[in-house]
Amino acid sequence: MTNPDTPIRLLIVDDDDVDREITRRALKRMKRTFHVTEVSDGEAAIEMWRDTPIDCVLLDYWMQGMNGDEVFQQMMMIRPDTAIAAIFLTGHSDDTQAGSLIKAGACDYVSKHEMTPDVLSRAIDYALARKCHFEQLNYLATRDILTGLPNRALFSLFLEQAIARTQREQKEFALFLLDMDRFKNVNDTLGHHAGDQVLVETAQRLESLIQTHDTVARLGGDEFAVLADLVHEGASITALAERISLELQRSFVIDGQECYLGASVGIALGPKDGKTSEELLRNADLAQAKAKQDGLSRYFFFDEDMRVLAERRRQIETSLRYNRWDTEFDVYYQPRIDPIHNRVASAEALLRWQHPTLGTISPIEFIPIAESSRQIASIGRWILKKACLHCAEWQHSPLKGTGVSVNVSPIQLKDARFAEVVADALAETGLSASLLELEVTETAVMDNQTTVVEALNELAAIGVGISIDDFGTGYSSLARLHRLPVDKIKIDRSFVTDLMHDRVSRLIIESIISLGNQMNITIVAEGVEDETTLQRLVQLGCYEIQGYYFSRPLPFDHFVEWGNIQLGIDQTQRIAPSMPSRVFLSQSGRFGSSWTN
Ligand code: C2E
Ligand code: CA
Ligand code: CA
Repeated sequence: MTNPDTPIRLLIVDDDDVDREITRRALKRMKRTFHVTEVSDGEAAIEMWRDTPIDCVLLDYWMQGMNGDEVFQQMMMIRPDTAIAAIFLTGHSDDTQAGSLIKAGACDYVSKHEMTPDVLSRAIDYALARKCHFEQLNYLATRDILTGLPNRALFSLFLEQAIARTQREQKEFALFLLDMDRFKNVNDTLGHHAGDQVLVETAQRLESLIQTHDTVARLGGDEFAVLADLVHEGASITALAERISLELQRSFVIDGQECYLGASVGIALGPKDGKTSEELLRNADLAQAKAKQDGLSRYFFFDEDMRVLAERRRQIETSLRYNRWDTEFDVYYQPRIDPIHNRVASAEALLRWQHPTLGTISPIEFIPIAESSRQIASIGRWILKKACLHCAEWQHSPLKGTGVSVNVSPIQLKDARFAEVVADALAETGLSASLLELEVTETAVMDNQTTVVEALNELAAIGVGISIDDFGTGYSSLARLHRLPVDKIKIDRSFVTDLMHDRVSRLIIESIISLGNQMNITIVAEGVEDETTLQRLVQLGCYEIQGYYFSRPLPFDHFVEWGNIQLGIDQTQRIAPSMPSRVFLSQSGRFGSSWTN
């Protein structure tokens, strides 16, 4: 609390000369030192409050001109963020009025008739203690305890002030939002204590970079913010960004161990990039997300495109919530040809979305959004059922025997009940499990999660096929692949595209094919667009081909029609030719060209 050796700076406000004298005498008889200032009216008191540091105010309640409570209200307005240690001095009859201020938690009161040095001393102690307590609470509410930096709440206040200043003085400022890279690594491998040390040192490094007028704050977790005045930094915002970036790339030595972290930085300029603190923080956050995406230790300035993109993403996310799939979603089918046996081996189900205002949205754009908003589970269920239904239906056409393959998101695979969902779709549509294949990406399968392995085994037990999609893009361990119930591997389209002119792609494809042969896994090539690529793949030993060369993905009706034309009769009755000199279904690439993919 208060140190008894330092004098308490006291302000007495009373319009009665005699009363002031009584108060002064009471103070003199206390065993402590005061530095007393006296004024005889409200205006003078407010003036004094504005200009001089004061610890405690003794305030006459009834005064000529401005009343004690008015004086008090004005003092609060001048310094809204501090508590005032004030004591009202009242006559007998005034107690009720003072009571309302006391109830509001503002201060204390002493009746002039009962004022003894003891009573006054206790009142002063109490008022100072309350002020001190308030300041502690205020500190806790506005500071980050670990680093002592302002927290998000206080930083937002600073931002609002900076924005207000720009309106008065045309001053510009920059907001840097920093997110540490690899912080989780430190926490996970060296423990939380090490993580804390990194945060404390980061705070110190940032503070060493900025000018006195600037502010560093910790917004939470491993996120920091810097507010820098452009007047003082000049045009060198980029230079400051550079310095921040370099400073945090320097190694941190934690418990004798060197760690390299770095930070991704997003920058928004005020007031150009935001009229409120929320808007500025949001925009700096968009820039930071872009920096994070771009790699480690990068910085980005906010620009309008980011907002437009984020807005589109938000729109897509909201639209997905409306569940209007039955009217807006469609499933297209792209045939997969077995050139050796002249048959349509299977068809891949591909999602299409016709949005009422945004137009056609590619699954490449909306699937990741659905994954992050967890909508993918219900969308996945929807397409699974739809695809099973359609496949069951084309069993009554020349496409009899052609199965369907459905893409499965890693998120779906991690759901413990996923096998149940698949079994339900089969049961509801009456499709035989042997006609359904699920495409899971290489990265999803290589994720070291036991739930994924369990899900795959459960699916294999039901009797559905499993293929690994986009193979070659991840880091597959062969030993691991061997332990999984995998039926097919789909070579990633990028290798197929480059097959004819890139030696490395050819080598990769060759080794995937020989790996498949050894492991008894069928190799599928997708993205085949021309005859030469097709011929080469067949030569190399790839016997399942998908791509625009045969057909683009088609709506269900058109796919069945395509099957009618290509196959005419039930394909299971066709006599399989040996290796064809000219691959059959040759002109079909043109088919359906009036439907866009
Ligand atoms: P994917 O599984 O690799 O699908 C193959 C993509 O290649 C499809 O794009 C297809 O239209 C396209 N394609 C096929 N043949 C050719 C070709 O000869 N040349 C070229 N340039 N492209 C070809 P699409 O339909 O836009 O789908 C993109 C991705 O969206 C898919 O990649 C898949 O990852 C995802 N996706 C699509 N439907 C679903 C779905 O129902 N569920 C999930 N989870 N993902 C889906
Ligand atoms: Ca696929
Ligand atoms: Ca693929």
